[in-house]
Amino acid sequence: MHPHYDVIVIGVGGMGAAAAAELAGRGRRVLGLEQFDLVHDRGSSHGHTRIIRKAYFEHPDYVPLLHRAYERWYELEEQQGRHLFTECGCLNIGRPDGELIAGVRRSSAEHRLDVEQLDPAELRRRFPAFTFGNEYHGMLERDAGFLYVEDCVQAYVDQARLHGAELHAQEPAVRWEASAHGVLVQTERQTYTADRLVITAGAWAARILDALSLPLEVVRKALLWIAPADSSPFRRQRFPVYLTETPEGIYYGFPVLDEHGLKVARHDGGELVADPSSVNRQLADADVNDCRQFLQAHIPLVNGPLRQSKVCLYTLTPDRHFIIDRHPHHPNVVLAAGFSGHGFKFASVVGEILADLTENGRTRLPIEMFRLGRFAR
Ligand SMILES: Cc1cc2nc3c(=O)[nH]c(=O)nc-3n(C[C@H](O)[C@H](O)[C@H](O)COP(=O)(O)OP(=O)(O)OC[C@H]3O[C@@H](n4cnc5c(N)ncnc54)[C@H](O)[C@@H]3O)c2cc1C
Repeated sequence: MHPHYDVIVIGVGGMGAAAAAELAGRGRRVLGLEQFDLVHDRGSSHGHTRIIRKAYFEHPDYVPLLHRAYERWYELEEQQGRHLFTECGCLNIGRPDGELIAGVRRSSAEHRLDVEQLDPAELRRRFPAFTFGNEYHGMLERDAGFLYVEDCVQAYVDQARLHGAELHAQEPAVRWEASAHGVLVQTERQTYTADRLVITAGAWAARILDALSLPLEVVRKALLWIAPADSSPFRRQRFPVYLTETPEGIYYGFPVLDEHGLKVARHDGGELVADPSSVNRQLADADVNDCRQFLQAHIPLVNGPLRQSKVCLYTLTPDRHFIIDRHPHHPNVVLAAGFSGHGFKFASVVGEILADLTENGRTRLPIEMFRLGRFAR
């Protein structure tokens, strides 16, 4: 007899930890399997911070989920008694007809979000640390900020364990199968069975779900921390998180939070990764030069030494929207993947959605745009 659970979760990163916590909190016997340590820096949920915002340029249909995600992050803070979410505002900067500004305007109009429009002169007056020409406008959303990403994952790990979930680190799932009677998962150590399975394998999703030929691309992303000579203009009381769309690319960053300086990175582009287990984690000159050029042009006072760097993975879908669905051939298997470099802020609500789909086969939360079947059309 193999050890049996109500639900097995393969991949205890951002989404898997949230799902495990939610299912365990609902009284399910949960086993979570993680190939690395719990809270590690080899997938997609590390690097200190993640932006969280509601005026979603990517699509207005994300906004109802964001309202719920915010609620669930605050709930997690309360349950765990720790600070995870810092509200410092998010400043979007771009040309009025660009994807970023037009998208923020559309989402905020459709969902009546409180977003302040700044013309080029007002942008310069209010945020003198940024240097942008007369064609750039700002959209300032106050109800936004950042999450401490590793602390969030740890909080979900702790919350899951508090409710009795067993989470096994360093235990990759090597094979799974499902039938009408349940699921079986084999690891390098053991074979387990369960009534249901949740697959949240991040950059490894295409591998563990190989029979589905998921249309996913994994991309290498570098994160840099660069120190300014004087950090006071960059503290969060006057310097928000930001996203900017320039002709060179979409860049984003954070206020100064510690001795490492300001974190800055590029959202678009990136090198395709054939195998997420053997990605090049060394910083290349091109990574540094790209961000330095952006800073020199648009935040010139951030020009000190490089203090820290990390390499992280995006898992992209063709339309950059997520995949959250039941497995097309196995109703007792649920999957979430392809978060396309913008998923972490949703982890709190994705945990709830995955628990709903696992238990009831459906959810009242709006996830139509994440159906896997859209790629078959
Ligand atoms: C540089 C960078 C910046 C980002 N910025 C933002 C941002 O500002 N805001 C935002 O909302 N989002 C952001 N994102 C996106 C967000 O972080 C990701 O969408 C999110 O973390 C994905 O979570 P996940 O659970 O799918 O992946 P992960 O957290 O990587 O979890 C997948 C887990 O599955 C495990 N696993 C895989 N296969 C197996 C197996 N066979 N057996 C056992 N375990 C397995 C992996 O080891 C991993 O721990 C960013 C991402 C990156 C890389």
